[in-house]
Amino acid sequence: MINEWDLTQTNQARLKQHMPNVAVLGSSAIEAHNYHLPEGQDFLHTEAIVKRVAQMAWEKTSSVICLPTIPYGVDCNLLEFPLTIHVKQTTLDLMLTEIVASLAHHGIRKIVLINGHGGNDFTPLVRQIQADLGVFIFWCNIYEVGQDKHNEIFDTADDHAGELETSMALALFPELVELEQADSGASRPFQFEALEQGWIKTSRMFSNLNDHCGNADPSLSTAEKGQQYLDFICNRISNFLIELAEADVNDHFPHFPEIKH
Ligand SMILES: [Zn+2]
Repeated sequence: MINEWDLTQTNQARLKQHMPNVAVLGSSAIEAHNYHLPEGQDFLHTEAIVKRVAQMAWEKTSSVICLPTIPYGVDCNLLEFPLTIHVKQTTLDLMLTEIVASLAHHGIRKIVLINGHGGNDFTPLVRQIQADLGVFIFWCNIYEVGQDKHNEIFDTADDHAGELETSMALALFPELVELEQADSGASRPFQFEALEQGWIKTSRMFSNLNDHCGNADPSLSTAEKGQQYLDFICNRISNFLIELAEADVNDHFPHFPEIKH
């Protein structure tokens, strides 16, 4: 069966009959995740979420299509760990710009970027290409979409390769999870209170945190928690996709035409 919501599966004949008006693209990474998660964790969970939300939205609107997820991400601060692959943000930005320009050329101006890796940051680029290309780009970070539900579902605070990511992995690809190999995720805190509080920021060199490239405790992870989080965020994202697919791009899009006083 051909999944028409997947650009790698549909064909020219179908596209000539019916052109979608929203494109969904994932961005991810290939990097070490403690000792128990696959190097492709970010790629695999992002790809799974992108496909699921595109399918859910297609079933309601037949107007949403997903592109293959970009597998590589910004990882210069994790390169000390085996076979982590780094591409610069400028490289990702260039690739995204050219993908978006192609979509715009084909008349798709509503684009949703689903990012599954904390090192990628497309904020400045989105500002620029919206102005340059006359497109509308919306994005989310997978780990932030359900932030308001986090404490209901999970028992521990999350960061890299912790309970959230491990639970999603157990729900999506349990055959690739070797939880018995996991290290604790314990790491060195910052020596400055301002950095711990987060109002002063820096970029962390992961090899300074600990030796296993995981800095959250994965031990309480379960497939059920992962499924609960995935169901919640996929519903949220697909509902947005449906609203977006049904919205006309008019003068003040994505704002209401009327000013609210
Ligand atoms: Zn990850």
